[in-house]
Amino acid sequence: MRILIAFLLMVGAGAYWFVLDGSTPNNADYEFPLAQMRGLIDANERPLPTQLNVEFISTDKAPLLAAHAGLHFEPFQLAMTSFQVKGADGDIIIGGAMDESLFEDAKQSEEAVFSDAGYRRMHDAMLASDATLITHEHIDHLGGIVRAPDPAALAPHLMLSAPQIDAMAGLAASGELAGDYKNLAPADLSAPQLLAPGIAIAPTPGHSPGSQIFLIRTDNGQEYLLVGDIVWAMKNVEKAWGRPRLLQYMFFKGGEDRAMVQRQVRALHDLSAAEPSLILLPSHDKAWLDELVDANKLGGNFH
Ligand SMILES: [Zn+2]
Repeated sequence: MRILIAFLLMVGAGAYWFVLDGSTPNNADYEFPLAQMRGLIDANERPLPTQLNVEFISTDKAPLLAAHAGLHFEPFQLAMTSFQVKGADGDIIIGGAMDESLFEDAKQSEEAVFSDAGYRRMHDAMLASDATLITHEHIDHLGGIVRAPDPAALAPHLMLSAPQIDAMAGLAASGELAGDYKNLAPADLSAPQLLAPGIAIAPTPGHSPGSQIFLIRTDNGQEYLLVGDIVWAMKNVEKAWGRPRLLQYMFFKGGEDRAMVQRQVRALHDLSAAEPSLILLPSHDKAWLDELVDANKLGGNFH
């Protein structure tokens, strides 16, 4: 009997540890370098971007517990996205989503939908961009770039760091990277810097070694923080609660530094409470992004 109880306790503890626990540290000891990023934006006198647009390349759904640890079986609407910053002189694209071939392998539900038109608009916008970047080097952010129809045309627009470039070969269709991607020069994105007027970038390794955030200020004074996949859902920010550990072992090849991510989630929670007017943009929270588009705080579809 004692052995049975010990066994059940172990199973229970395992379930808690792998699936239910999303706790973050109580004391925030992580700080995003927002002051430095704002200083960089302030110091530049050229006109600020006029608009931030989101493009949904594909949509899908999964149980909320995948994004927010715990017994949450209700659906989480997820989107694979890209963002377009419309600058006074040129545009910046952030995020490459997945192409249709990768989407077919990665979809999670019967309701998953791939938008050909969305992928094409993203691709055209990348070719017209001053620079195309990603928040991090995972399949659903870099795959659509690796498998783009015309690597020769896209390569000169890419601004990717060394860990992001290193991840490209693993996403290529036959394991063989397109020749035009083989000699990409890595961008040094290892310190906060201004990318263009109104756009600052800072490294935030944790979810992946090449993870980074973008602070964008548009000409109406609105600020946005693109946080990539530090959280998948705004609910993570509201509750200061992360993803289940199980995902580390199932999906995050190359290793997520979970302790770091949990500190960042707590920092986002505190930041959101301290600065409610700062709009946080996780990559995948479709309901939240739809809400922002409906409220005219984000533009829909690239143009
Ligand atoms: Zn992602």
